Amino acid sequence: MNEFETLWSKVLESLQDEIDAHIFDTFFRDSYIYAIKGNKIYVATSSELAAKIISQKYSTLLDTLTHSITQTNYELLFFKEDVLKNDKNISKKDDKTFFKDSKLNPKYTFDNFVVGTSNQEAKQAALIVACSPGTMYNPLFIYSDSGLGKTHLLHSIGNYIKDNNPRKNILVSSTSSFIDEYINGARGEKDLNSLKSYIKTFDVLLIDDIQGLVDHKKTEAYFFDIFNYFVDNEKQIVITCDKLPSELKGIESRLVTRFSQGLLTKISAPSIDTSIEILKNKITQNGLNIANFDDDALKFIAENKSNSVRELEGALNKLLSYTINFKPTTHVDLKTTIEALQDILNIKDVNTELSEKRIINTVASYYGLTSSQILGQSRIKAIANARHISMYLIRNILNTPYTKIGKIFGGKDHSTVMSSINRVDKLCKTDKITNKVIHDLKVMIG
Ligand code: ADP
Ligand code: MG
Repeated sequence: MNEFETLWSKVLESLQDEIDAHIFDTFFRDSYIYAIKGNKIYVATSSELAAKIISQKYSTLLDTLTHSITQTNYELLFFKEDVLKNDKNISKKDDKTFFKDSKLNPKYTFDNFVVGTSNQEAKQAALIVACSPGTMYNPLFIYSDSGLGKTHLLHSIGNYIKDNNPRKNILVSSTSSFIDEYINGARGEKDLNSLKSYIKTFDVLLIDDIQGLVDHKKTEAYFFDIFNYFVDNEKQIVITCDKLPSELKGIESRLVTRFSQGLLTKISAPSIDTSIEILKNKITQNGLNIANFDDDALKFIAENKSNSVRELEGALNKLLSYTINFKPTTHVDLKTTIEALQDILNIKDVNTELSEKRIINTVASYYGLTSSQILGQSRIKAIANARHISMYLIRNILNTPYTKIGKIFGGKDHSTVMSSINRVDKLCKTDKITNKVIHDLKVMIG
């Protein structure tokens, strides 16, 4: 529904309670708002007769109903559709429309939102609000670092209400679009009063990234009024933010207080297990089979990218496009994953314990071994060799103390570790193959 349809459906809904059903069907059923110019609303009707009857008998009632919905004094004018179409002064082109780009993203639903301890509370609160908008937590304030699912939950609320409660009209907007609308209004390109009236016709207001309001004092005051109207009238507001209200420096305290009066709920970074679930979910959504992805490959991505679901998704997309474009394969293993992602994984940046593990995993996959074989006690030459190379790389890349390396490899003495590493170091200088292996592995590790 566009804004005219939203408004007119509300007017008609209230009108239906006031007049005879037969009259309603005959004269109003096909009417719609053709244009709004200043304070004039041009309504198109299906016949001359309808236009005439409505103007004579119902215009006062309709003005009143429209006023109670928009809180603006509009004058309603009724014409047969053709008359409006032929009138050049009322062209539809320069109709003022607000929030042109506002729409719910159908991709974001509760069904495809993977739940773990990091987001369970936020998801529950969102679902409660979606089931009974305006009555439980108002506003619902969802905050988290970037990329952890705020926008996803915000749109899920909207999509859920749209499907289950279609009479509720939903306005979803980023704070930056809200500010743009305000600025257009303030410049006189559009009308600030009509904008406010328009927003007030909605039942649910979903505002993304409210931190954008900082340093926009006038928009803030304007928003404050709308916010109060919604809360006072039990119309639901949901707000997302990258921080707590109290941390929003530069926002008036009266607004901060009001933001905090409903429910504040946080989304944290997902655990490794939740990240793996999210990856599996995205793989299935892409029409692929999870069975084709090795567990250690998914775990590898999750361990590297768990602080942002957006980055997690980005890594998966990169992997998928790599396997399609460069290395067509149906089976995705750890080695392919590391190859595909090496330039977006800054392995040296993550904490050392993970990196040591990762070096071992990389070496293991390079040699077609498992990491437990490398960490074990086997004296088979190929395994022992991979083990020494792992130790060498750990020392070389992370500068991990010999004693710690000894501990990682099942409690080896530091002098044993040292001599293994020295041996690889020598080989590296004398043996071309070893040199190449070390070089390749370093590239893979990043
Ligand atoms: P934010 O608004 O907090 O920056 P988004 O809602 O835009 O984050 O989420 C970033 C991406 O991660 C989106 O594509 C979203 O679908 C996805 N995402 C986030 N959390 C989850 C989750 N729990 N389950 C599935 N996908 C998620
Ligand atoms: Mg967002």
